[in-house]
Amino acid sequence: MNQSTDLPDLRHDWTADEIEALLTMPLLPLVDRARDVHRIHHDPTRVQLATLANIKRGGCPEDCGYCPQAARYATGVKGEPLAPVDEVVEAAKAAKAAGASRFCMGAAWRQVRDGPQFDRVVEMVREVDALGMEVCVTLGMLKPEQAIRLREAGLHAYNHNLDTSREHYANIISTRTYDDRLHTIGAARQAGLTVCSGGIVGMGETLRDRASLLATLANLDPHPESVPVNQLVRAPGTPLEQADAIDPMDIVRMVAAARITMPASMVRLAAGRMQLPREAKILAFQAGANSIFYGEALLTTPNPTVDEDRALMASLGLKPLEVAPRQARPGACATLTAADA
Ligand code: SF4
Repeated sequence: MNQSTDLPDLRHDWTADEIEALLTMPLLPLVDRARDVHRIHHDPTRVQLATLANIKRGGCPEDCGYCPQAARYATGVKGEPLAPVDEVVEAAKAAKAAGASRFCMGAAWRQVRDGPQFDRVVEMVREVDALGMEVCVTLGMLKPEQAIRLREAGLHAYNHNLDTSREHYANIISTRTYDDRLHTIGAARQAGLTVCSGGIVGMGETLRDRASLLATLANLDPHPESVPVNQLVRAPGTPLEQADAIDPMDIVRMVAAARITMPASMVRLAAGRMQLPREAKILAFQAGANSIFYGEALLTTPNPTVDEDRALMASLGLKPLEVAPRQARPGACATLTAADA
């Protein structure tokens, strides 16, 4: 489905200049503008709760400068084997019982390799989908036929973040290219999966880099249905351990600009919420964030507790978003076969 056909106000020709102008607007008018867009496309009283499970922890051969799971950095994260299917399905059931409607599974792999491990992930997808949750995975680089297998097993979304601007990217990662990332996103899209792709703020990037990242995302057609906005968690042992702290309002500005440029997408407040003051979280909701990651850890980084998030949402009168029937979800389409890709 091409979103631009259904929602004619969606644009795919944003320039970095335009987005930089948004990011430098006075904060409250920026939030107002984002709020106006948000109310047209979303129920402002609902926030989707997504839970992220680490199904294959640590030992990753990549060199992402922010990541404690990269084997080359002395971060104390030990490599572990792929989790058993039962354990992951139990975690998904617990997440659903706690109110989550989306379950994301992350494996610290460079890329998906065909074989028993991928077969096991496919089985996890099938079983979590059967629970009636939106299922997302993040497994590294992906080929079109692998994307189709995941889609046929019931996968809803593939996460592959762009992380930062094309210009700043080489300062953060050397073991895969920006275009590798865009190809993986393309493979997921071609297979009929929805795309989850966002970035990380606080990795020494300039304002222009943030604008450029958002321009790349917003000029994908369709837009990524899901856009996580992460704040760097400065993990000991990683190259970015000493990165300068950012102003929490920078996260609010990124959320607002993401909402304005990708009006129909879910904008998710992702890693780094522990460092975000309550006021910044509230402003981020006001600016159009409509999902949080829910559960006490985000892969290897800490996250607010379920009780804290419940209390925050109750105090704001926000309710969890119910999961849509599979056929009604964005990107829903007939099952594709390898010949379609
Ligand atoms: S972000 Fe992903 S690909 Fe990069 S080092 Fe961490 S686990 Fe590996």
